Amino acid sequence: MSEEGAEALVGLGSNLDGPARQIETALGMLDAIEHTSVVAASSLYRSAPLGGIEQPDFVNAVALLTTGLGARMLLEQLQAIERSRGRERGEIHWGPRVLDLDLLAFGALSIDEPGLTVPHPGIASRNFVLLPLREIVPDFEIPGLGRVRDLPVNDSEPRISRLALQE
Ligand code: ADP
Ligand code: MG
Repeated sequence: MSEEGAEALVGLGSNLDGPARQIETALGMLDAIEHTSVVAASSLYRSAPLGGIEQPDFVNAVALLTTGLGARMLLEQLQAIERSRGRERGEIHWGPRVLDLDLLAFGALSIDEPGLTVPHPGIASRNFVLLPLREIVPDFEIPGLGRVRDLPVNDSEPRISRLALQE
C-alpha cells in the first residue's frame, strides 16, 4: 500500500525455523500493514547471538518504511506480526526467537514511554543494526545519535557477515 507519511526504521531478526525465510516473509507482512509501505530493505546479515546463551546464529536485516500510522500503532502492528509468526510472550530475554521486530527510529521523534522507547536504545551498540542501516539509509539522522554514516561500528562485537543472495 503506498501512502505519504513518516519514515520509520524497523530491525528484523530471527534464529529459528528458517531464519532467512522468516525475514523475507516478515518484509512482505510489513508492506501489508495498513497505510504502510516498505521503501527499502537491506541485505541479510548473519550475526552471533548476544547475551551468552547457547543458541543458533541470528539473521538480521533492517527496513525503511513510510507509514501513516503513529509510532505506538506501528509498534502494535509489529507485535501482531511477531505473534502471527509464532513468537511466544514470556520467552527468555536474549533467547532464541522466530521473529523479532524492533522499531529502531520513527522520523525525528524521541519517545520514552512504558513499552515504547524510540530511537531504540540498542542501535549504537549493535553492528547487526548499524551495518544494514548504512546500506539503506546512510544519511538518516537518528535523534540523539546523529547521521547513520557517522556512527562507528563496535569492534568488541565481532562475527557478523553478509549472507550471499538466495541463502
Ligand atoms: P528485545 O527486542 O529487546 O530482545 P523484546 O522484543 O522481547 O526484546 O522486547 C519487547 C518489549 O520491548 C515490548 O514489551 C515492547 O513494548 C518494548 N519496546 C520498547 N521500545 C521498543 C521499540 N522501539 N521497538 C520494539 N519494542 C520496544
Ligand atoms: Mg524486540
